[in-house]
Amino acid sequence: MKSIIVHYQEIALKGNNRPWFIARLVRNLRQTTSDLDVREIRVLMGRIEIVLGPAADWEAVRARVGRVFGVANFARAGRAPLDVDAIAREILNDLGDRHPRTFRVTAKRADKRFPLTSPQIEREVGGRIKEARGWTVDLGAPELTIHVEALTDEAFYFFGKERGAGGLPVGVSGRVVCLLSGGIDSPVAAWRMMRRGCRVVFVHFHSYPILSRASQEKVRELARMLTQFQFRSRLLLVPFGEIQQQIVLSVAPPLRVVIYRRLMMRIAEKIARVHRAQALATGEVVGQVASQTLENLTQINDVVRLPVLRPLIGMDKEEITAEAHRLGTYQISIIPDQDCCTLFTPRHPATKARRGDVERAESALPIQAMIDRGVAESAAEEFNFPVIE
Ligand code: ATP
Ligand code: MG
Repeated sequence: MKSIIVHYQEIALKGNNRPWFIARLVRNLRQTTSDLDVREIRVLMGRIEIVLGPAADWEAVRARVGRVFGVANFARAGRAPLDVDAIAREILNDLGDRHPRTFRVTAKRADKRFPLTSPQIEREVGGRIKEARGWTVDLGAPELTIHVEALTDEAFYFFGKERGAGGLPVGVSGRVVCLLSGGIDSPVAAWRMMRRGCRVVFVHFHSYPILSRASQEKVRELARMLTQFQFRSRLLLVPFGEIQQQIVLSVAPPLRVVIYRRLMMRIAEKIARVHRAQALATGEVVGQVASQTLENLTQINDVVRLPVLRPLIGMDKEEITAEAHRLGTYQISIIPDQDCCTLFTPRHPATKARRGDVERAESALPIQAMIDRGVAESAAEEFNFPVIE
């Protein structure tokens, strides 16, 4: 079975966007398998065929395809001439050591010109398999479902389907800047934006050299991990320690966290404009910590014009943690580091920052100069997947 048949999401995108969506999906599939023995990837009447070469390792290809957004499901498939005898023969050859007690054939015709209807294909192919193997047909809850898809001049068959990553192909929804801390939440937020088709530019604020380089190392690891889902990433590392020291010198402890965040948002917005991103994204959740009350989120939001997307806003910590486990970011996020926000973080931050107080506190700071400096001193790093040695 030398092919993989990929079905994409039945997308709500309007007709005109469809070819573009599919072209992007094909490009992403090519990219993620570029170091594997894949001979060809082609679009075939509403599905995509990945043609494997002899050296392709199915498990490797499977792991890669399973992370491509826009894929609804996929299966390792065989190809047969468009004839029920030939289809049944190829299926019997490839069944291997499968011995289900019950089975059924489910057929689909992509080309309605094929003389047999789908139920006829099911009966004809199913009958031949039943005869050869002696298995019982069960149309309701079979142990094995054999899928047959008839195209114009060939048919594909496969046993069972794997669930794809869902969502939209990365690249179809534009670019966003995600504020990536070393925590559990923001990598999940970034992943969720990618799943909606966004390419995510990562921005991390660190306090090196006041603190160690640990947070940068961690965020690089996270960026590397997340690049498996978007294949090409950019990470901007912004020195934030001196900005925090400046804040500490003139802002009373309770308001500091909100003011750090407002500075982060302003710097991120400027970076977003440079990188032509259309929105910011964060891992904020209502009520999770003191800085994430509605009052504080309002003050944090107030300083930027770009939309701030918060894909985790209504989630519980357990749900986010479970998702981080599935993505593989959790193990990186829990490595201890010295987050820039633990440095200089007051014990009792204000939970209801008021606009007047925040603006008064900021009036003593050279805000524009702080933003410009943050942007100017940011360092960009690039990540690619797969990494070709
Ligand atoms: P996370 O687990 O994502 O760190 P958190 O629960 O620790 O989130 P906060 O520390 O309040 O929450 O951070 C809220 C959001 O602000 C983060 O999800 C992230 O988007 C952004 N953020 C916080 N610190 C940084 C940082 N050092 N660099 C970049 N973004 C940050
Ligand atoms: Mg954090």
